[in-house]
Amino acid sequence: MNEKTVRAISVEKVDVVKKVMLEKPKLRDYEVLFKVHYVSLCTIEQRVYKGKRDYGYPFLGGHENVGEIVEVGNGVVGFEKGDYAVFTFNYCNQCESCQSGRGTQCEYQKEQLPKIDFDGSIVGGAMSEYIAVPAWQLIKIDAEKDQLSSFALTEPLACCIHSIEKAAVQFGDTVLIVGFGIMGWIHLQLAKMRGAVVIVSEGDEKRRSFAQEEGADFVINPLEVGRLESRIAEITHKKGVTLIVNTVANPDIWDQLFTLLDTQGKILAYSSQDRKKPAQVDMGAAHSKEIQIIGTVNPTVHDNLKATKLIAAKKIVMERMIDSVFDYEEAKEAFDHACLPTVYRVLIQF
Ligand SMILES: [Zn+2]
Ligand SMILES: [Zn+2]
Repeated sequence: MNEKTVRAISVEKVDVVKKVMLEKPKLRDYEVLFKVHYVSLCTIEQRVYKGKRDYGYPFLGGHENVGEIVEVGNGVVGFEKGDYAVFTFNYCNQCESCQSGRGTQCEYQKEQLPKIDFDGSIVGGAMSEYIAVPAWQLIKIDAEKDQLSSFALTEPLACCIHSIEKAAVQFGDTVLIVGFGIMGWIHLQLAKMRGAVVIVSEGDEKRRSFAQEEGADFVINPLEVGRLESRIAEITHKKGVTLIVNTVANPDIWDQLFTLLDTQGKILAYSSQDRKKPAQVDMGAAHSKEIQIIGTVNPTVHDNLKATKLIAAKKIVMERMIDSVFDYEEAKEAFDHACLPTVYRVLIQF
């Protein structure tokens, strides 16, 4: 057995994060050895840590990442030692979904070789300082070392690029964003780039004033009874909005959201929802008003590529979403901090 020299962060069980040492992965053909510089704590890691999502323990997360190529395997083209890159998550690039540009529905997500030898479940894997990544899952980035951290948020940006493109937002559309967490913030930036009038609905006062600062055209507190309906009616002259982006996992708001849509309006099911509590919606209204319900999950490789270009060109300043950066040594503190309400993204640096 090789010596265990790779630092990693494992969620051992609910509320327990442990620093562990793993064996350095051996490169297979068409892979690179990837050194993780920053990994971001997405909702998946937070939910596993808090026992709200079950992938089995111990758990090695980390799909929002940025790092450096330190070794290049046999057959790899286009990458060199020293290149900075992000790796995209779980595309086999061999199935019909991947090959037809629908990689969010890759048919072999579970069959892929592990990126590191870890006795537990792996989602992403960038909670380990070194991993072996197939070359087709990598995107080379054009970054100075001091800008690297913002590229750790490539994946969440790519998720929102995927959803905004699916909804085909047009100049002059009225877009209602429900919830102003990081996903609400990114949707606001992207919808504005597309020339939309953007309304944010958010219950938290601090987040509401942040939405205002960040360029929302209108900000509404949905917790005031009747306020959301009356403001949308005023803003849209009783027509309703063109698009709703729902970033909130609450089954009870769907029916109300449907009533806020214009005829031929669209509603994006962005947030994951509790499958045990299906939402009630008026499908008769969906029929007669010709409403489109659009599901969206994850990004494709192409969406990730677009995200890296937007970050590199500073079209969207992801630093604003980084609440704090913790050192590997303070992994437990990082998880606790990330789980506080109203904190945006927390990064860990290796
Ligand atoms: Zn994520
Ligand atoms: Zn595939």
